[in-house]
Amino acid sequence: MQRADGRAADQVRDVSFELNIAPHASGSVLVAMGNTRVICGVMIEEVVPRWMKEQNVTGGWLTSEYSMLPYSTTTRKPRDIMKGRLDGRSTEIQRLIGRSLRAVVDLEKLGPRTMWVDCDVLQADGGTRTAAITGASLAVTIACRKLAKEKKLDAPPIKKLVAAVSAGILDGNAIVDLNYEEDKAVTVDFNLVATEDGDFVEVQGSGEEAVFAQSQLDEMLVLARKGIADLISAQRAVLARIMVSPPES
Ligand code: UDP
Repeated sequence: MQRADGRAADQVRDVSFELNIAPHASGSVLVAMGNTRVICGVMIEEVVPRWMKEQNVTGGWLTSEYSMLPYSTTTRKPRDIMKGRLDGRSTEIQRLIGRSLRAVVDLEKLGPRTMWVDCDVLQADGGTRTAAITGASLAVTIACRKLAKEKKLDAPPIKKLVAAVSAGILDGNAIVDLNYEEDKAVTVDFNLVATEDGDFVEVQGSGEEAVFAQSQLDEMLVLARKGIADLISAQRAVLARIMVSPPES
């Protein structure tokens, strides 16, 4: 099976992370996976949501917002504000991003703070939700380290790195990290979120006007796990680099 961009079935697109692109944020990353590019910015507020206070829930909270910039798609996508409401897809995606990051942040250690993770798609070519998670994981890690550096906490309230990737079935075969052309062509849409230990945070798979077999699910899972391991290696390389020379210096 030949992929249009010549990638092997188990090969993720070229990934890169540009740090500190929004200096007012506690952590910010422009993540690129092939032609998909997402800006991930983290800000911390010294307050918790009202429901936490009302229910006497201790610790802090992490929440996310996702949006596609109007010029991120080939035809202009109007901002949600013009329609007066958030579309269902964005709501679904921002909740996924929030869940994925709450799985790796130690909310108790974070203390009475809210971590806002804003993901804005600069260029969309498939896999924007997974790229957002992979980029936001780094932005959150950097923001958590900053809390410790500023002596607001003894240690960064982050437990693990997390990353996400898509997979699908194209002409009967599993492929990983679909671009938009592939996303339109596949019969199964699969997204996996997992930590650096290989533990799952979320597994999503749906037949698009089609069904899929257990063997195909297994194949997608194997490819996605390998893809996530590759992405985590790329994240680690970036973190190792900034240990030597921090982005803010
Ligand atoms: N897309 C688009 N306009 C939209 C929604 C999606 O052009 O309003 C394109 C975009 O390239 C996106 C792809 O369709 O990356 C796949 O969308 P999906 O909803 O599957 O989410 P994603 O794969 O980006 O997480």
